[in-house]
Amino acid sequence: WLTIELSLQTAADLRRIVLLESENITDPLTKVYNRRYLDRRLEEEVVRSKRYLLDLSILMLDIDHFKRVNDMYGHQAGDVTLSTLGSLFKTGLRDSDVVARYGGEEFLVICTNTAIGGAALVAERLRQIVESQQVQIPDSSGGSQTIQISISIGAAGLSAIVDSKEKLVQAADQALYRAKEEGRNRVIIAKTEVKS
Ligand code: GH3
Ligand code: MG
Ligand code: MG
Repeated sequence: WLTIELSLQTAADLRRIVLLESENITDPLTKVYNRRYLDRRLEEEVVRSKRYLLDLSILMLDIDHFKRVNDMYGHQAGDVTLSTLGSLFKTGLRDSDVVARYGGEEFLVICTNTAIGGAALVAERLRQIVESQQVQIPDSSGGSQTIQISISIGAAGLSAIVDSKEKLVQAADQALYRAKEEGRNRVIIAKTEVKS
């Protein structure tokens, strides 16, 4: 009896540990990886890619005019939009891609083993998925309505000059800024090679 009880206890403990571990690395609203996991993972991927001379690219995604969604439909509708995007990204990406919530309404995707050209295709696909999707949000009368949203994306790849996690994120962030400036709902690729 003691053995059975002990092993049941162990199984329960294990389940609890697995659950705790996944809570530790998952963003509760969007169900993608959280910032803490992202920081650690991106550092590891940069080190690995440099050591084995592998390609590595990242995408920085930001919802366009998201403040308007909150202002017009309420914070809850904003939350629903974020969680819808989280699952769209997860289903639209390969298993080797890592998607995380970077900040409020910003996501970051790590495309492992992927040169910037391939990452640009991934980015464009995600942009189109969001653009073509009607997001269902709750309305004030307890029903629901659909809204149209778009995202802007900055893409950057590891290179001779962009050779650290910080520089990679900075390059993607600058490209994202340009995507916003140039009219939103678009992908901009960072220039990460030395000019010749
Ligand atoms: P832009 O196209 O330039 O990105 O415009 P924007 O309105 O998306 O950008 P801005 O940075 O002005 O606003 C971001 C908004 O995202 C403001 C903030 O209230 C909202 N936001 C951030 N995190 C959350 C969240 O967890 N839930 C909800 N509902 N809103 C959030
Ligand atoms: Mg933002
Ligand atoms: Mg935004």
